[in-house]
Amino acid sequence: MEQHRAVVVGAGVGGLTAAVALHLGGWQVTVLERAADLAPVGAGIGLAPNAQRALDVIGLGDRVRDLAAWQGDGGMRAPGGRWLARTDAQAAAARFGGPLVLLHRATLVDILTSALPDGAVRTGAAATLVDPGDDHRPARVATPDGEIEAALVVAADGIRSATRGALFPGHPGPRYAGCTTWRVVVPAPERPFAPHETWGAGRLWGTQPLKDGRIYAYAMAAAPAGGRAPDDERAELLRLFGDWHHPVPEILAAVDPAQVLRHDVHHLTDPLPAFHQGRVALLGDAAHAMMPSLGQGGNQAIEDAVVLAHHVGPAADAPLTGPAPGFVPSRALAAYTADRLPRTTAIVRKAARTGAVTLLAARPAVALRATLVSAVSRFGPGLVLRGFDGIADWRPPVAPARSA
Ligand SMILES: Cc1cc2nc3c(=O)[nH]c(=O)nc-3n(C[C@H](O)[C@H](O)[C@H](O)COP(=O)(O)OP(=O)(O)OC[C@H]3O[C@@H](n4cnc5c(N)ncnc54)[C@H](O)[C@@H]3O)c2cc1C
Repeated sequence: MEQHRAVVVGAGVGGLTAAVALHLGGWQVTVLERAADLAPVGAGIGLAPNAQRALDVIGLGDRVRDLAAWQGDGGMRAPGGRWLARTDAQAAAARFGGPLVLLHRATLVDILTSALPDGAVRTGAAATLVDPGDDHRPARVATPDGEIEAALVVAADGIRSATRGALFPGHPGPRYAGCTTWRVVVPAPERPFAPHETWGAGRLWGTQPLKDGRIYAYAMAAAPAGGRAPDDERAELLRLFGDWHHPVPEILAAVDPAQVLRHDVHHLTDPLPAFHQGRVALLGDAAHAMMPSLGQGGNQAIEDAVVLAHHVGPAADAPLTGPAPGFVPSRALAAYTADRLPRTTAIVRKAARTGAVTLLAARPAVALRATLVSAVSRFGPGLVLRGFDGIADWRPPVAPARSA
């Protein structure tokens, strides 16, 4: 076995972050991605201070913050436009030690891949776990170009993870969360607008600015699984949100129906017994897919990646860190599970609770929710922010590296 070879299955946010973190630790990393290229979906991704601190560990936090727009100014509104709760970026930064930022997913993927050696990422390379290995035997992964033996396999293969199914065949897998989402990235509306998330009966809409002058808008609504608009998804959005406050109608008027992304929401309501087996570690959505209601799925994948690299340790020939104690998978990966499973299980549950409140559809419940949100926020602007206590204030187990 090549002692320091790590194979990462999946080049999403989690897999790429893990690849960078392991590469910096001297591991020889191969990322296998089944898609033909790395063009991520046309959508934004919000990164809270917890994920930014994880990116600081691998020297990429400043680049991300430079290319992202600060979030936090705005708040929650009702569909008619009434403000229910206000938030501001300074308060968010003060509470969590840094700002919330939003960037295009393609920008994040570019930043991560540029920190990897040429040839580390192989696209068009669907991978299958053949053997998870153990302390004495390497793991084996099948690829279109033959089998690879590895000292470590990182399964970052997303919510439908085949690796998870192979390691934990008795686990029920993801369940439908009862709602679907839409996402678009479009030029900013001509009339000024305040960033917002607006909650209606069984549906929500958010509009946030990107640094390049465009905006990222997302919507969620209760819906049966597998539904599709009879005409097109822009027409569906117009039916659901066309009479909501500015800037929603203006955005919908500008959207190309072909650019609207629609995805049903699934989550792993039953936690896995562990995030590892043999020499394989699961991370990101493969380990703990959650509802997007806290915007933490990708953030947690990034946390996983740096915590995993920390427990796995540097490869013995790491140029900067010198000789390290041997990697004992059973010990290192059990420590990874112990660190990550309780935290992410709690966040999956919190995301589900928040999602359920967001999707309340009965009129009296919606009215009560609006009254409560607006009454509580009158006692302090921190209502929305308080929901992120214990999440956005997370600190990684290692000190930040100097920025790349
Ligand atoms: C509407 C919406 C909004 C969201 N907003 C946010 C947000 O603001 N902030 C946030 O942090 N999170 C957000 N999320 C969640 C976030 O998108 C996910 O949690 C995150 O993308 C998970 O990253 P990942 O790397 O684990 O998996 P993925 O991004 O799903 O990547 C998995 C990769 O593995 C590849 N793959 C799968 N099987 C194989 C195989 N056999 N061989 C090789 N490759 C394979 C796939 O092609 C894919 O590229 C949102 C989600 C939704 C639906």
